[in-house]
Amino acid sequence: MTILVVSDIHANRIALEAVIANATSHSPVSAMWVLGDTVGYGAQPNECIERVRVEGALVVAGNHDHAAIGKIDVTTFNKYAAEAAIWTSKILQEENKKYIASLPLVATKYDCTLAHGSPRDPIWEYLITAEAAVANLDHFETAGCAVGHSHIPFLLRMPQSAMAPVVYETDVVLDIGKHRYFFNPGSVGQPRDNDPRASYVLFDPDACTLEFRRTNYNVQLAQSLIEEAGLPQILADRLKVGH
Ligand code: ZN
Repeated sequence: MTILVVSDIHANRIALEAVIANATSHSPVSAMWVLGDTVGYGAQPNECIERVRVEGALVVAGNHDHAAIGKIDVTTFNKYAAEAAIWTSKILQEENKKYIASLPLVATKYDCTLAHGSPRDPIWEYLITAEAAVANLDHFETAGCAVGHSHIPFLLRMPQSAMAPVVYETDVVLDIGKHRYFFNPGSVGQPRDNDPRASYVLFDPDACTLEFRRTNYNVQLAQSLIEEAGLPQILADRLKVGH
């Protein structure tokens, strides 16, 4: 069984379609998980929500999702994120707002816990150090934990005494074996690890493997949609550099 695990789509439908096409041409995908921030920053929030709904994805909510429906005060965001959140809340259809409001903060499936930030603080914590990972071990019951939020792909297998930065190689199958582990599939719609390609993971819970993958997509088209929407220019510019 192969599960397509994505996060931080950020209203980038062009990147999302490229990921789905790339994943399904590589392996038969039987389910999709989305680790939050389906909307925010990009120009196609309605289209992205509709796409993950069509896929019947298991989805948790992220901070940008909550900002778009008024559950988080945008003054907690930086200027550009706040501007995008306000734009998103205006353009989101009622039905899609209701859908976001219905999303859980944490979900579990196949001995893996899904959360946007972390199990102990699903909306806000950036799980980017081994110390933070260890501190989270008591906050979930499953062997594995899949998070997003930082837009930085990683795999961390316990026990681990020091943070190894991004512990993976692209397009290589990694064995998670009997460890407790954390992983982040990286971001579909706004990568921040200096690689502009859309990032995702293929998870096989039977074989206990994770495959970190990247795919090119039409960045220029995503940029032009952001510009046409009147969103801040920096949100278009950063897609090209992946930061
Ligand atoms: Zn995000």
